[in-house]
Amino acid sequence: MHRIPHCPNPLCPSNKAESEIKPSFRKKGFESNKRQEKIQRYQCKNCRQTFNINVFDINYYAHKSIDYKRLVDAMISSSGIRDMARQFRCSPSLIQNRIDRLARKAMALFAKLSETLELKEDVAADGLESFVLSQFFPTNINILVGSKSQFIYYFNSFFFHRKGRTTKAQKEKAKELYQRATFEKGAPSRSFKELLDYLAALLDRSYMTDIILDTDKNQIYHHQFVRHPKMEKVIHRKTDSKEERNTSNKLFPCNYIDRQIRKDQAEHVRETLQFSRNISNSMNRFFVYSFWHNFMKPFRINRKKSNLSSHGEAAGIDPIIIGKIKEDLFDGTRSLYFSVKNSLNPFQQDLWEKRLLNPLHCKAV
Ligand SMILES: [Zn+2]
Repeated sequence: MHRIPHCPNPLCPSNKAESEIKPSFRKKGFESNKRQEKIQRYQCKNCRQTFNINVFDINYYAHKSIDYKRLVDAMISSSGIRDMARQFRCSPSLIQNRIDRLARKAMALFAKLSETLELKEDVAADGLESFVLSQFFPTNINILVGSKSQFIYYFNSFFFHRKGRTTKAQKEKAKELYQRATFEKGAPSRSFKELLDYLAALLDRSYMTDIILDTDKNQIYHHQFVRHPKMEKVIHRKTDSKEERNTSNKLFPCNYIDRQIRKDQAEHVRETLQFSRNISNSMNRFFVYSFWHNFMKPFRINRKKSNLSSHGEAAGIDPIIIGKIKEDLFDGTRSLYFSVKNSLNPFQQDLWEKRLLNPLHCKAV
């Protein structure tokens, strides 16, 4: 790697967005790594801090580098972490570590794109139910999808108490577990409000005068929608979730995404044995999946029916920008948190900083 994107010191005067001081660096000797290879050091001319060029490497501090393109291929074909570890001949924790690195890179690229992303279609939102750790800890992943493009604009997640019919033994187990567990109060409302906040930011850049938001008849969606101060351009259309799930269903975009995710990602397959044990890990994998879905997966497998190459293109994003973003994902560089923090939404910030907690505060696998 030869290009230095910015000084790695968060306090450096050239790193402020409003600063007129241009970043500038000089070579400052070498250091050697464990393999006795020489690595160039640089010094920032503004803050005088010296640094190793590898600080911008996606494999920074990692001893084993793996092929990230191959990793994505494995992730989207329903391989579990242990399957992947066998394929790559390494430990499951190494696989998860590399997925986390890739997820952060994808998050940084998507966040930058979000700053100029213009909404050109109606949208639909719904929650995908899965679980982390055990079926006593179901998660809801709220997703905002383009109605025409099925582009995933936004998602976040929260835990809730197990619903539905349970046996007496399950009730007792739940009681015991829930005594030790912590669930965020008002999480469903907070989660949907954050989704609407993101939609509001998209609307600020949209020339469309009326936008339809399709959801099911969940009361929380309704309450949050009427309370949100920036939804005047939006018409909230509610469809009964029990209606037949075909392509003319208004919730088709959400049902489509739901089906695709359950098909492609091992941990969301129904009755799966490969469930996730940690919410942060699960969401990082989901982020890489949504990036692949938006920019790398063909819009429709039957190309004759569509000449659009990806869901991103169907959402009206310039193919040149999509080409660049795909290339950047695998360019081997790493994004430093402080340089992208302001572009990330609150959920992404929590995910990046590993602040999403499991109800039993379990550590990652
Ligand atoms: Zn500096």
